[in-house]
Amino acid sequence: MVPSIEELEVYAKENHIPIMLKDGINFMLTYIKENQVKNILEIGAAIGYSAICMCLVDENIHVTTVERDEIRYQEAIKNIKKFHLEDRITIYNQDAFALDLFDTFDLLFIDAAKSQYIKFFEKFTPLLKVGGVVFSDNLNFHGLTHTTETIESRNVRGLVRKLNEYILYLKQNVMFDTQFYDIGDGISVSKKRG
Ligand code: SAH
Ligand code: MG
Repeated sequence: MVPSIEELEVYAKENHIPIMLKDGINFMLTYIKENQVKNILEIGAAIGYSAICMCLVDENIHVTTVERDEIRYQEAIKNIKKFHLEDRITIYNQDAFALDLFDTFDLLFIDAAKSQYIKFFEKFTPLLKVGGVVFSDNLNFHGLTHTTETIESRNVRGLVRKLNEYILYLKQNVMFDTQFYDIGDGISVSKKRG
């Protein structure tokens, strides 16, 4: 049976897995295609949906990704096999902060714990080539990063504060040129300067 991306979207919806929104993933895939991105590092694989979508853009693309949740990792392995992408997706089942890589990448995609974005950025951008880019997802956090209303949940309030700190951090980081897009759940694209 031919595997389909729609199947993964249905699984994600039914199991409350926060995969990228459709227009967000399409935006990133267009960038990958137009800029001939080849070597990608993703932080937060979940069930492998975005990693698989990125690989399907071009047969020369390789994705390295990491997922700390065991069940999601197993599901990702299953999906990667279904799409016969075992040779082009390297997935680790561990905490990203325990991951030591020695490759260099054209694109870093940050889509894991929203409270840790600055730490992910600092840990992994040294692996980015000059001219390479960092995509960061969920900067709108369902619209909450721009709200002036009081957020009831203390947990959500904390995450929103962290994301706003990250947005400010990107704006002030002179080593990167960052653009913010109101696409999907809010995406930033930060290009590494020479
Ligand atoms: N990129 C995926 C969705 C990722 S959802 C897609 O669009 O298809 C975010 C995932 O990051 C969750 O599954 C969560 O378990 C994982 N995660 C969060 N913090 C992490 C960390 N420190 N290390 C590894 N994985 C992490
Ligand atoms: Mg996301």
